[in-house]
Amino acid sequence: MHQKPFLLAAEGLTRSFDGFKAINDLNFYLDEGELRTVIGPNGAGKTTFLDLITGRTKPDVGSLKWDDAKYDLLKMNEYEIYRLGIGRKFQTPTVYNDHTVTENLILSLAGSRGIWHSLFGKITSEQKDRIAEILTTIKLADSAHRKAGILAHGQKQWLEIGMLLAQEARLLLVDEPAAGMTDEETYRTGELLLSLAGKHTIVVIEHDMTFVRQISQGRKVTVLHQGHVLCEGPVDEVQSDERVIEVYLGR
Ligand code: ADP
Repeated sequence: MHQKPFLLAAEGLTRSFDGFKAINDLNFYLDEGELRTVIGPNGAGKTTFLDLITGRTKPDVGSLKWDDAKYDLLKMNEYEIYRLGIGRKFQTPTVYNDHTVTENLILSLAGSRGIWHSLFGKITSEQKDRIAEILTTIKLADSAHRKAGILAHGQKQWLEIGMLLAQEARLLLVDEPAAGMTDEETYRTGELLLSLAGKHTIVVIEHDMTFVRQISQGRKVTVLHQGHVLCEGPVDEVQSDERVIEVYLGR
């Protein structure tokens, strides 16, 4: 067992599909405030791992504990896990295109009571301040009243990160945030995630190693391979690890 306190602890997790172990005896520990990057070749089990954390799928065996083992995520359903403060951003942005940037954030507010109440009911002055703060953080204050559908791809990704903040997610699971972005947008995404680190706990799944280097900066990087943690450590160490080179280059 990992030393306490921890935010998330996965131990001995295994998840098979038709006898194939997509996740195989996985151990993974996350401390509060960490910004952790998870890399690994296609098919390594990254998506399945996020599915297990969010309760989208359940493991065959293993344990998954939250907040110093106060909660057993395996005994909770997807909605209960979401309510604990575990938010996920998928690779493709899923914003409400016909609503403004601000409305998207209002709809995501923690405790939001449905679309009608959110948009036409009263929001408190604290919530207004919180939305203004998020708009500044995600650098979309100038687009607050524009429809989300007309935002650039990168801006939609930032809005989605903003929606996780509005949800008051304690853990942000961010799947390939830089996919399809220009170099400039990628860099700005890295800056955004770095600005959130410490205040939030973030797990980023990413392929782009320039981006991984930007956001890692001495932080721990986890390499998944065949559903198992192959190695963990600072990005330089991981990138020069013989096992990692072999997995990526097939040598
Ligand atoms: P990654 O996100 O690292 O590319 P995945 O978690 O998507 O990896 O997949 C890991 C392995 O599990 C792959 O070989 C994939 O084909 C398999 N897999 C994932 N989900 C399913 C499923 N629902 N049914 C069958 N096989 C699956």
